[in-house]
Amino acid sequence: MTTLFWIILGILVFDFILERWLDYLNTTKWSTSLPDEVKGIYDEEKYRKQQAYSKTNHRFGMLTSSYSFLLIVLMLFFEGFALINGWATNISTSPIWSALLFFGILFFASDLLNTPFDWYATFVIEEKYGFNKTTIKTYLGDKLKGWLLGAIIGGGLLALIIFIYLKTGEWFWLYVWAVISGFSIFMAMFYSSLIVPLFNKQTPLEDGELKQAIQAFASKVGFKLDNIFVIDGSKRSTKANAYFTGLGSKKRIVLYDTLIKDMSTEELVAVLAHEIGHYKKKHIVWSLLLGIIQTGLMLFIFSRFIDSPALSEALGVKTPSFHIGLIAFGILYSPLSSLIGIGMNIFSRKNEYEADAFAATHYSGTALANALKKLSVQNLSNLRPHPAYVFVHYSHPTLLQRLSALDKEQANS
Ligand SMILES: [Zn+2]
Repeated sequence: MTTLFWIILGILVFDFILERWLDYLNTTKWSTSLPDEVKGIYDEEKYRKQQAYSKTNHRFGMLTSSYSFLLIVLMLFFEGFALINGWATNISTSPIWSALLFFGILFFASDLLNTPFDWYATFVIEEKYGFNKTTIKTYLGDKLKGWLLGAIIGGGLLALIIFIYLKTGEWFWLYVWAVISGFSIFMAMFYSSLIVPLFNKQTPLEDGELKQAIQAFASKVGFKLDNIFVIDGSKRSTKANAYFTGLGSKKRIVLYDTLIKDMSTEELVAVLAHEIGHYKKKHIVWSLLLGIIQTGLMLFIFSRFIDSPALSEALGVKTPSFHIGLIAFGILYSPLSSLIGIGMNIFSRKNEYEADAFAATHYSGTALANALKKLSVQNLSNLRPHPAYVFVHYSHPTLLQRLSALDKEQANS
């Protein structure tokens, strides 16, 4: 066991304890009676259901995270990565093929080990609370398509990255950065038209009161909107959502059919105004740009470490290889990537407030507040998470925070 082995183990243990502690903090906010601040949003019965849902998810999360933690610790102590590496290099000595085999085996093994839990979450927990609409056929279809996409896109990118690594010298990270950035921009533009249709049906919003109201609002704020789509989220769950996607002429707003079903036209336009706010305030472009900068930073640090045999030795592998180095580096880098993730969440929560304010200024704060309340109840959202948990994990402010910000917005105008 090398020093680096113990550092890797230490990082995993520290992360596990920290996450369980954050989970625990959330449980301290549970209550059996309806808290004052939630009155008027949840009624007694719905609130009890929400609390039960939170508890179930918490217990289930404890189980799955302990299981994953145990698996990776066993992999480290029993040199599981070295074992899989041995199989892969036995089949092919080519660095690209052995890496593809290595990650292929890892991916399938972890997918198979996790599927029973995922199955339980969908068909038992979500079912019990009335959310699940996924059929077994859809579930298995999703799995199969996920594997195929993973093999084609993940495998293709990995092969390309190793190819560049083998062909170029110390500047390889710069070439790889260019490739990944190009791919990210491509995906940001074409995700909705290439990937989403494999899983869902998107239909243009039909003519009528809602479409007219949306278009009236869009033209009022000078937003060119040709693409409003309704997605069949109800194929999998009763939970509702709306989002903005794409860049430039490819931009589109996607509304879940489950959202349209339960909201008034005014509330739906308010949700849309929020999404348009994200676009107007350039949040989409900034998020993409920050993602690209992060990738560059990571690749640069990676390039300083990848040639060191210590990475492979830490996982019990004598002959250094790109893919083993990548696994060790991935764990060593995770504390930094968690910190960056917290920074990104802070940025994202700030953006949510801005988009809410945009909707309040240009449309209606009251309609947005009503829509957000409905959405929270429909999804049985936890309205009282612990602030520390919110700080680390939430990309959106809590409902109560958003409502009070909207109140202030209204008081000021
Ligand atoms: Zn938003």
